[in-house]
Amino acid sequence: MKTTLQTIIQETLQKEKRNLFTFLTGAGISSESGLPTYRGSDGIWIKGTKYHKPEEFGTFRYFSQNQEEVWQYNLFWKKLIEQATPNQGHFTISKIEQLLNKKFQLITQNVDGLHQKAGSKNIFEIHGNKQTVRCVSGCGNVMPIPLEIKSKELTEDLTEKDLELLHCQNCGDWLRPNTLWFDESYNEKLYFLNSALKSAKNTGILFVIGTSGATTLPQMLTETVLQYGGYVIEINTEENSYFFERFSRTKKYILIKKKASDALMNIKEIIEEYK
Ligand SMILES: [Zn+2]
Repeated sequence: MKTTLQTIIQETLQKEKRNLFTFLTGAGISSESGLPTYRGSDGIWIKGTKYHKPEEFGTFRYFSQNQEEVWQYNLFWKKLIEQATPNQGHFTISKIEQLLNKKFQLITQNVDGLHQKAGSKNIFEIHGNKQTVRCVSGCGNVMPIPLEIKSKELTEDLTEKDLELLHCQNCGDWLRPNTLWFDESYNEKLYFLNSALKSAKNTGILFVIGTSGATTLPQMLTETVLQYGGYVIEINTEENSYFFERFSRTKKYILIKKKASDALMNIKEIIEEYK
């Protein structure tokens, strides 16, 4: 007998419209690669002996008063990201993209670039990317962190050269990490707000992986998918996310209680079977 998941995948593959397979990923998928999650118990928001809550530290307000400290922290993250390698979950999503081509969309809250390292191409990074920067005053485009800037240990100070390179060559203002901070809003230009919502409308199945759903766009995306008749399939070993709280009584919401990499492998095999 076919499982519910097999039936849903088969039906969606046969649909003419609203047949997109959309994958929404959060920090949980990168934790198997050794990157700390922001809200998990292993979150590191430390500088020296100073502890910060992400909601205070990860803000434009904090950056605008403590640029060097925030950059020091981000250059430490640069090191973590450079050392991190994609895991089975990232690779399986990349293989699913190859199977589905245009019927595939990846939307990630992650800023670590690991999906790209695993070969994924069609991605909306709705919280930006830590390996890119932009001018605080808004001139010019998003660009990679200048090559000459080396990653740092958490306690390592910025050099004069770093400070020079972390300023805009055009207007002299600070460059900032190209990531969405807690006191900022989503938009299309930097964070693909409208594109992500448009995908949600065309989605047959939204797979939600490794995110607690604490931010508004993932919440809007799931609501939009359900509103337009699609399924929301959450992969989570626990019943602890916003999505579970909000949708567990909804017929088109399904929770798969498996490790992300195992569940994704299973999804890939079903797609291969029915494609
Ligand atoms: Zn500038």
